[in-house]
Amino acid sequence: MIPKDHPRYRSLVARERLARCAREGIVAPEGLAAHGRGEAFDYLIGERTTESAALAERTAAAMLLAARHAVISVNGNTAALAAAEIAALQRASGADAEVNLFHRTEERIERITRLLTEHGVRVLTGTPERIVPLSHDRALCLPQGIGDADVVLVPLEDGDRCAALREMGKTVITVDLNPLSRTARTATLTIVDEVTRAIPAITAACSTLEAGEAERLVASLDNTYLLRAAIDEMRERLAHALE
Ligand code: ATP
Ligand code: MG
Repeated sequence: MIPKDHPRYRSLVARERLARCAREGIVAPEGLAAHGRGEAFDYLIGERTTESAALAERTAAAMLLAARHAVISVNGNTAALAAAEIAALQRASGADAEVNLFHRTEERIERITRLLTEHGVRVLTGTPERIVPLSHDRALCLPQGIGDADVVLVPLEDGDRCAALREMGKTVITVDLNPLSRTARTATLTIVDEVTRAIPAITAACSTLEAGEAERLVASLDNTYLLRAAIDEMRERLAHALE
């Protein structure tokens, strides 16, 4: 039992959940390392949603709602950490959800699909095809899912896949605590926030966007500005860390 008053309570709960999901074959061992990288950046940003991240989250809601066909691409870490949150975002935005893995096995796809379904996510199923311009199994996605989407929300994505989705002409929204990653720099819109804070914030924004706000947010989207703002936050915190 993790004591509720522990200063790193949320972080410890997340670790415990990821470790359990790794034992159950939902999270890949490599996913644990990826989470550690995310944690380090979360520490630097103060484990909170910054103003620029909140702006990115509202913009993401606007883009999902305006999409012809929005798809949320879910991997093992995202499913382990935020299955119920994905279900709520799906209800609020009408987006489809597709399981898409870097370390792809049919068994993991099935396990993740089951976990998501238990939490109320409607998961697309079907026969994947080699559609994404990448080698090997990383090219696989559903033709009626990511293959057809104009807007894809891919939390915790790999840089190569993010770039390949952009090459296909898709609008890519990512959630990535590392503003320096290739994913963060390649996506159309990067939310530098922890996935369990980011997804509920997008969901909340879906129902609170005001008339005309969505169009304004999309028209003024500047991802370089958002990444710079995240780096500035981290630099500020580091500069005053020992005061
Ligand atoms: P890239 O391939 O984009 O250059 P990378 O190789 O550094 O990035 P990956 O392992 O491909 O990183 O992807 C994991 C990314 O997800 C990391 O940048 C990490 O900071 C981020 N990340 C991990 N856990 C979380 C989380 N819970 N919330 C938000 N971001 C996270
Ligand atoms: Mg990578």
